[in-house]
Amino acid sequence: MPYEINPLPYAYNALEPSIDELTMHLHHDKHYAGYVNNLNVAIEKHPELFSRSVPDLLRNINSIPDDIRTAVRNNGGGDANHALYFDIMGPNAGGEPTGALADAINKAFGSFDQLKSQLSAAGAGRFGSGFAWLSVTSDGGLIVESTPNQDNPLMEGRVGILGLDVWEHAYYLKYHNVRADYIKAWWNVVNWSNVARRYQAALKREYLM
Ligand code: MN
Repeated sequence: MPYEINPLPYAYNALEPSIDELTMHLHHDKHYAGYVNNLNVAIEKHPELFSRSVPDLLRNINSIPDDIRTAVRNNGGGDANHALYFDIMGPNAGGEPTGALADAINKAFGSFDQLKSQLSAAGAGRFGSGFAWLSVTSDGGLIVESTPNQDNPLMEGRVGILGLDVWEHAYYLKYHNVRADYIKAWWNVVNWSNVARRYQAALKREYLM
């Protein structure tokens, strides 16, 4: 069974003015779809791997056959990263997390504002292309990290629950070279209830696709 993209769960213009409609069309329908398509092309060479979930492939990236390992890393990562990225944004969002996730953030970072500034700095400081993450560690704690290219924290044994895409394709049409302005606006569209759902799953070592 080939891997499939998730339809965008809200309108393409729903994140305006933080993220513009054309960027959402290109990002979801071309970039994300391209990763999923290229993952399928790679896995066709070892079709027995279609029985495995994308998170399972990424957790075990070093055991993927040599001839497709880089393609699975880049495109399986691209699939997982974008499945999360579009899910943790939404209209009428922003604000702050509540409940157990808020408690865990306060415990790990001192305050929500501290998390925000650390994650923003991780995104701004990522040289070239990649993601900044809030991730759940193997002992259930929270950390901020950043990954290059389409790498995903699953490759390092962690479960990302909030991912900020800092590839130029995520912001260049509207924000041009000013990545910091995109990051600032992105906080206004974070869907904290979906991040909290991912937090609860991550405590059970699950990554939601
Ligand atoms: Mn992207």
